[in-house]
Amino acid sequence: MSFLSLQGISKRYGDFTAIEQLDLEVERGEFLSLLGPSGCGKTTTLQMVAGFVTPSTGRILLDGRDITNERPEKRGIGVVFQSYALFPHMTVAGNVGFGLEMRKMKREQRAQRIAETLELVHLTGLDARYPKELSGGQRQRVAIARAIAMQPELLLLDEPMSNLDAKLREEMHIELRAIQKRLGITTILVTHDQVEAMTMSDRIAVMHGGKIAQLSTPFEAYERPATPFASTFLGRTNTLAGQVLRNNPRCAEVEVAGATLHVPREGRDVTGAVNVYIRPEKVRIANGDARVWGRVATRVFVGNQWLLVVETSLGRLHVAQPNHGAPPPDEGQDVGLAWTDDDLRVLSPEGNHGHA
Ligand code: ATP
Repeated sequence: MSFLSLQGISKRYGDFTAIEQLDLEVERGEFLSLLGPSGCGKTTTLQMVAGFVTPSTGRILLDGRDITNERPEKRGIGVVFQSYALFPHMTVAGNVGFGLEMRKMKREQRAQRIAETLELVHLTGLDARYPKELSGGQRQRVAIARAIAMQPELLLLDEPMSNLDAKLREEMHIELRAIQKRLGITTILVTHDQVEAMTMSDRIAVMHGGKIAQLSTPFEAYERPATPFASTFLGRTNTLAGQVLRNNPRCAEVEVAGATLHVPREGRDVTGAVNVYIRPEKVRIANGDARVWGRVATRVFVGNQWLLVVETSLGRLHVAQPNHGAPPPDEGQDVGLAWTDDDLRVLSPEGNHGHA
């Protein structure tokens, strides 16, 4: 039995259904992200686990215990919400030790736990500072330390790094993941930042309209999106509308703008109108073996790679080329493009894997 189990959870606000029949199993020690656009129900789901929102239907089990109607403070869950401000009149040590004091932990033991936790989040030496004397990133780490100091069985994070600048956020992703692994705290993160979700998670639940569109490892979610929504939400992709001509043993022949593409079937029968997807980094600039020719409409350099938009007979293709030194063809120039058929994906626009 998994550590946390959400069974048939729905949440309705009047006529509006925010969450619909959601099932989710989280394993002990796992880092799971709820990823999705604004309004898809991520926060509502997390709030139900935390106990701040009561589900309309279903139940929540934590380590086999039914906590559906248990008060938040009884659940032993650590929570870091974006809006969870630090206590401004308390020092860093006071903030981190607050919950422990409430729990009546002895002073010496408390001091030790505070020191250990601050070391963990690289804030040693800042114990006596007040929140207003800290940077945004340091404050955020105090909030995380405050939750971790309680050594919760389950840690819930709702966009806890959204106020940090890009570089600090990247560092925090790696640090926080390392801490989580070291302490083995089962963690659920709510985010709309796909890089954040991919960097930190064992598994990602991609949410859309109050449901889970896909639940898989970050690699699987990126490489084999289960729905058109997951395809386009997680990373950039090229979407080509096509029509299935026939199913061969290994691949489907799909007609796109007069050309025939051979798309892996992966054991599925695909029929009718479909979308063919290919990631920009899977399209390469080719000379001899070009599959299609086009004209570069835009060329942007972002350091580690070049991003091109190429107008082709198949439609607009986004192409990402690693920076190997020589720049790719410039805007207005013609360019040949190629790909490996294995890198093509096919889904029906309704998301049922191309089934009729
Ligand atoms: P964001 O990333 O913007 O925080 P989210 O995915 O976390 O979005 P939720 O906050 O879970 O989304 O909200 C899901 C849906 O439920 C939204 O359409 C929201 O307007 C609605 N909703 C949330 N709380 C309430 C409420 N108390 N009353 C009515 N509707 C609500």
